[in-house]
Amino acid sequence: MGESDDCLFCAIISGRIPSEKVYEDETTYAFKDIHPKAKVHVLIVPRHHYGSVAELAKSDPAELAHIVEVAQSIADDAFHGAYRLVFNTGRDAGQSVFHVHAHVLTGETLDE
Ligand code: AMP
Ligand code: ZN
Repeated sequence: MGESDDCLFCAIISGRIPSEKVYEDETTYAFKDIHPKAKVHVLIVPRHHYGSVAELAKSDPAELAHIVEVAQSIADDAFHGAYRLVFNTGRDAGQSVFHVHAHVLTGETLDE
């Protein structure tokens, strides 16, 4: 399903590389970040491979909205609906995996 060779997150979604699942449905997968930067740090990815949030917004805006819903629901459970949602975009902004992913940071009060 739009899988890209040599993509770490495609390998995680397919189960070839293990991950700690937080949520899944037909289009979307969420798992714990291996180097958490908050008490709860979850990555939400579309199953389909898109390189960036801009590419996702252009090709499948409903999936981008769905990712926001999933983030909200994770934060509702973890921290009364408070969370930070980050899409690092481009190497110089800290993007290291080029399969779009939302960082959901929650579970505790976050520094500004
Ligand atoms: P970014 O730097 O925005 O591209 O985010 C990539 C994120 O993926 C980083 O926060 C990493 O800690 C995380 N990460 C890398 N490898 C894994 C893995 N095998 N399982 C879970 N998270 C990972
Ligand atoms: Zn991928």
